[in-house]
Amino acid sequence: MEPLDAEALDGFAMLEGVGLTARRELLAAAVHRELQPHDLLIEQGVRHAKMFLVLSGELGVHLESPESDPVALIGAGETVGELSVLDGSEASAYVVAKTPATLLEIGEDDFWGLTNVSHAFALNLLLALASRLRANNAQVSKNVEKRRMYERAAMFDGLTGIHNRRWLDETLHRMVERNARGGGHLSVSLIDIDHFKSFNDTYGHAAGDHVLTVVATTLAANLRPTDLVARFGGEEFVIIFPDTEIKLAQIAAERVREAVAAEKLSMPDGTALPCVTISMGVAELEGGESVPDLLKTADLAMYRAKQAGRNRVMVGHRSDLDGK
Ligand code: GH3
Ligand code: MG
Ligand code: MG
Repeated sequence: MEPLDAEALDGFAMLEGVGLTARRELLAAAVHRELQPHDLLIEQGVRHAKMFLVLSGELGVHLESPESDPVALIGAGETVGELSVLDGSEASAYVVAKTPATLLEIGEDDFWGLTNVSHAFALNLLLALASRLRANNAQVSKNVEKRRMYERAAMFDGLTGIHNRRWLDETLHRMVERNARGGGHLSVSLIDIDHFKSFNDTYGHAAGDHVLTVVATTLAANLRPTDLVARFGGEEFVIIFPDTEIKLAQIAAERVREAVAAEKLSMPDGTALPCVTISMGVAELEGGESVPDLLKTADLAMYRAKQAGRNRVMVGHRSDLDGK
């Protein structure tokens, strides 16, 4: 390769303001590097202590592996590796040639020599560092936002949009613990749609899914703002009635049951569907009871509601569990 003259470095922001003499010295000390596509220039975890000036071609910066999607691309006029020289630590990413590329490699001693003779270079380094920091912070904010979104999504049921089983388990455990410390009333209701299998068989799974969404919405719309509802799984739901004794929970359950039975159903395309009904078991937390026992009591009551003819509310008691 022909020896370069100082103008070859004009396009580099990192060398802006650096005097001609310093540029010539840098060129004289630099090692030419030619890369082919896929050549690994910098390996994550390895100490390189070199700055590279990209004269032509394109390089990719990869975090997980040299084959992963690049998080950034570096082209002519840009530099790479300067941060590792600055703090003397191992590279934090892989840098791989995307196209044939020509680089100038500046060793550690020449790098520090340049910072000593050129104020402009030191300033450019600071600017590069500042912009990396900003890019990093933006990435961190994006990741935090993404994590919040996933955490939120993990607590909601994808079909009905109401809270899911995981949320219910966590919430109910917290409430039962609080109740154990502070006393007061806590009731729950377990709900199961009647003859839902034959509904699915007759009108199709899509109609069934639609009904699940309508039932979830109807439950939520007919509760007090402090009551909580979640999809327990399949065609079962749970309502939590905080600070509510069983008698009042039973009244609320009756209201909800009637609202579901009265709900006119149709497919989103307007096709009419028959009404559905629900069977409900209601139970109140009794001293020292566990969450599974509370739910089991409500489940047994719900089962009795089924046996008694469905579309009704039955009240359970802890003593129902004796011998089960
Ligand atoms: P019962 O009155 O005794 O509750 O009768 P059932 O038919 O509702 O009870 P079973 O437990 O036998 O059937 C529940 C049915 O609920 C099975 C399945 O077809 C339906 N199902 C469960 N999850 C979903 C779902 O996500 N979407 C749809 N469309 N159907 C579901
Ligand atoms: Mg069921
Ligand atoms: Mg059912």
